[in-house]
Amino acid sequence: MEGRVTIGTAWILDRGKVAGKGRERTLDEAITIEKQRVKAAIENSPVPGLFSAHLEMLEDPLLLDTINRNIDEGMTPASAVKAAGEEIAGMFSGIDDEYLKARADDARDICRCLENSLLGITGEPFEDITEEAVVVAEELFPSDTARMDLDKVKAFVTAKGSPTSHVRVIARSRGIAAVSGTDISGIHQGDRLLVLEDEAKVIVNPDGETIKTFLPRMADGNIFPEEARRRVRESGVKIYCNAGSVKDVKAAIKSGADGIGLFRTEFVFMGKEIPPTGEEQYRIYREAVEACEGKPLTIRTLDAGGDKPVPCLGLAREDNPFLGMRGIRLSLARKDLFKDQIRAILRASAHGEIRLMFPMVARVAEIIEAKAIVSEITASLEAEGIPFDMNMKIGIMIETPAAVLTADLMASETDFFSVGTNDLSQYIMAAGRDNSSVSYLLNPLDDAMVRALRMVVEAARGKGIPVGVCGEAAADPEVATVLCDLGFDSLSVGSPSLIKELKGND
Ligand code: PEP
Ligand code: MG
Repeated sequence: MEGRVTIGTAWILDRGKVAGKGRERTLDEAITIEKQRVKAAIENSPVPGLFSAHLEMLEDPLLLDTINRNIDEGMTPASAVKAAGEEIAGMFSGIDDEYLKARADDARDICRCLENSLLGITGEPFEDITEEAVVVAEELFPSDTARMDLDKVKAFVTAKGSPTSHVRVIARSRGIAAVSGTDISGIHQGDRLLVLEDEAKVIVNPDGETIKTFLPRMADGNIFPEEARRRVRESGVKIYCNAGSVKDVKAAIKSGADGIGLFRTEFVFMGKEIPPTGEEQYRIYREAVEACEGKPLTIRTLDAGGDKPVPCLGLAREDNPFLGMRGIRLSLARKDLFKDQIRAILRASAHGEIRLMFPMVARVAEIIEAKAIVSEITASLEAEGIPFDMNMKIGIMIETPAAVLTADLMASETDFFSVGTNDLSQYIMAAGRDNSSVSYLLNPLDDAMVRALRMVVEAARGKGIPVGVCGEAAADPEVATVLCDLGFDSLSVGSPSLIKELKGND
């Protein structure tokens, strides 16, 4: 259920053809322009951290010294910038460290933009992007995503890039499908493209039968059949939305969401050289809860690890990261980080309704330990006279088989449950969520999964606590109706378009 399937119209990026030509600029002018552009990207990107890294690099003497050295050796400023980008990228890509490797792309991306500024290339290659576009390109950079209207984009298809590239991170956070490392030579402007993320495949101009086969897998509100839509609406479940940034929160609330069922805080940590401070986090969480306009914001504590690498944490490499140090395990092992995050969330809770949620819980003892830390922080905030919500609800994600089997015990220690079907199905079915060859096993309606879901609902009912689902499963019409029938109180879906669909707001 993890990989997205979508259909849209090919919009092919041709950087050379669409670019305009203005006045050539000096190096100082180009750097000033680029800094302004990056600052705007930080404001608007769903993953601002990625662009903070760009700003740091633009201010890094290494870049400027290398460019100036090249100019001193007789290169034109534009060639000096290009060569500097390649040289710095070469240095970073040779280092055995995930964060520094990613900086190789940053260096090439920044130098490409600087070179364009120097040459006076003013054209905005993405300005005529069409609705429902599948952006097809040889390569896409994070800076490209800041230049396009992501609301129009259904998918990215690139010849270069990997599933963990920054552009993929941005795509995922915006519910955009992405396929990289695929042959794009047979795709023409305006072709209808069926994009299958799991299979890393693109079907060009699919026939009606093929589209029909994939319809159930399309996480697209427009294909929710009327009958399923009616049943979900009539069940009275709350419809929340998942978010990874303040921008996502705003889009969800605008679409009529009853609140945010999952705010993934990993994105606050991604693309950073050092983890964000408590103060930085506080500002983001506060802005997010204020954007909820009185509706609840469920903030999940850091769920780094597994398929969500957070390089700034410097985590040890693991052979089997999905079974390793992730979620609450990591927070309890790195209490410094955890305490900063809890304090930031508690402080933000003075500005709206925040619900705190712990990921990847496997033992009741973890909840007790985590809650003891929350109590410790609340005591110190009280002593310092800093306001916070004394009644903040604390819940957990149910995404391990252990949590299902002990859900009755866990229910005594928490205020709510939220089932993460993405992880729960991979752990119940023993089939990796990132492994397309076994994705056929990840069906939330598989007997084993339905039994697990039923057990969780019964355990929640037994203790009178609310129980929702925040995995991708809720975006599938058939699954959503079964979840309503099973007695879930809320569905938190991945995209604002589904909110409109399920709540009937336009
Ligand atoms: C899940 O596992 O279903 C979930 C919602 O969390 P994530 O996809 O962030 O692991
Ligand atoms: Mg999960």
